Amino acid sequence: MDDAGGYSAFMNRSLLFTLVCMACSSCAPAQQAEAPEPEPDSRVVKALEAASILPDPVVLAFRSALMADPGRFFRLLDEAELESAAAGDLLQLVDKNHALPSSYKPLDLVSLNDYKLARTKDTLSLRRAIMDSVLEMDAAARADGITLTFASTFRSYETQLGLFDYWVQSHGLKEAERFSARAGQSQHQLGTVVDFHPIEEEIASLPQGLWLEQNAWRYGFSMSYPPGHEHITGYLWEPWHFRYITKAGASIERDYFGGIQQYFLEFLREYRLGT
Ligand SMILES: [Zn+2]
Repeated sequence: MDDAGGYSAFMNRSLLFTLVCMACSSCAPAQQAEAPEPEPDSRVVKALEAASILPDPVVLAFRSALMADPGRFFRLLDEAELESAAAGDLLQLVDKNHALPSSYKPLDLVSLNDYKLARTKDTLSLRRAIMDSVLEMDAAARADGITLTFASTFRSYETQLGLFDYWVQSHGLKEAERFSARAGQSQHQLGTVVDFHPIEEEIASLPQGLWLEQNAWRYGFSMSYPPGHEHITGYLWEPWHFRYITKAGASIERDYFGGIQQYFLEFLREYRLGT
């Protein structure tokens, strides 16, 4: 960790102590002594501690939203974790620092050919665990006059190896790393990610892209690489790439982490590691 990182971590810790202190009954004003505040919920303290790894403005916004109604946050978190655990973890962090093992392959992959979904090819598959949500979102889009066309879904470790190599050959390593994942570092290996057609920035201004941006969260899907966050996510804006993170998880991302999936999943990883 460089000096700047160390300073930032120090500031985050200082901020955390301040935040915890604000929730602590022993520091309450004397006039409230007759009706002491309840002891701070250990889960609130744990959540604030986990969030302290994030940038200060994100921590402050998170604290504000959390303290407004801690019960709501933990209800959503419990719901997300319950669904996630039942499916073998739908919420694990997969990025340039947290790779999946080469052996990771979901056991419940199903072919999209078995469903009435618009698609660009016949080799697409997703996890059965998320198909109810996929179909629900597709039906809702159709009801709004929108056709979602599935263009890329599960990618094996081996496919990813070849794909990254291809992009390095054609664009060079530095450029390839901005939009293509090394094997094991792609969310597509999870089997819970969809790239919608067209896989171009223009999708953002097309009806299907606009619909997804406004509505995908209602069905548990989240745009993994939003605009202006390459320094956070490691990737350029990908308005076609959506990951299923459960409906409760998508609400948490939206209401507590400014709609940034990376922050939510980094928080959750830290929260799970907390004791
Ligand atoms: Zn993608």
